[in-house]
Amino acid sequence: MTGRVTVVGLGPGPDDWRTPAVTALLEAATDLVGYGPYLDRVAPAAPGRRHRSGNRVEANRAELALDLGAAGGHVVVVSSGDPGVFAMASAVLEQLELHPGRWRDVAVDVQPGITAALAAASRVGAPLGHDFCVISLSDVRKPWSIIERRLAAAAAADFVIALYNTRSGHRPDQLATALAVVAQHRQPATPVVIARRVGAPDETVDVVTLRTVDTGAVDMSTVVLVGSSQTRVLDRPLGASVYTPRTYEEPAAPD
Ligand code: SAH
Repeated sequence: MTGRVTVVGLGPGPDDWRTPAVTALLEAATDLVGYGPYLDRVAPAAPGRRHRSGNRVEANRAELALDLGAAGGHVVVVSSGDPGVFAMASAVLEQLELHPGRWRDVAVDVQPGITAALAAASRVGAPLGHDFCVISLSDVRKPWSIIERRLAAAAAADFVIALYNTRSGHRPDQLATALAVVAQHRQPATPVVIARRVGAPDETVDVVTLRTVDTGAVDMSTVVLVGSSQTRVLDRPLGASVYTPRTYEEPAAPD
């Protein structure tokens, strides 16, 4: 019997931000694999066996899912947001590469979810309306020197920058360092969106500037969007106000 492993995105929070395709897969799964708090977001009525794991054991979790698939299960691996953005889809494919042939008969596929940056952007308007990039500040899997180089390159290229894995107790100062790198290429008044626990009942979303960011208010449940030179804040009391226009003019060359 051929098994299957599907890596799904639960979205950032509320169930109605989850695709119907993902909801159907969760209900039909024989096995649900994931980080404990994410499995808690699956409806209690879903009958699949639950295999909870800690946050830092992605490789083991992926291997377990593939073994359950090899035994004929219809296995669903859950990620928050989108499973392809700093999440489990890569971890599963990495196992396939590390063990060629071991799970040849297991079908593996991916179902998307709303990633944190898109959810956060929608709360304030359209800050990602033109070219943007997504950078994780976690140096668990890549050296900090690479992160700084990428930040500098993205800032010099005038991308809007979405920062993930923004600040933890282990590395309290890196967000401030990252913003200082970006500030070498941006005006102090550049809009910055600090979006914490988007979609949860205690969500907070603040629009500040590069000059006024309080990095102490940022934690690992926060995504930070740094505007480009074109991002602006409309003077409106109600609803969406931050946007990046879809047209971009080459800045005039100096005389
Ligand atoms: N796969 C996830 C990202 C995993 S990396 C996704 O697509 O959203 C974890 C980081 O995502 C966190 O450190 C934080 O920066 C961001 N994040 C995840 N959920 C969030 C939420 N509800 N609100 C704000 N940021 C969130």
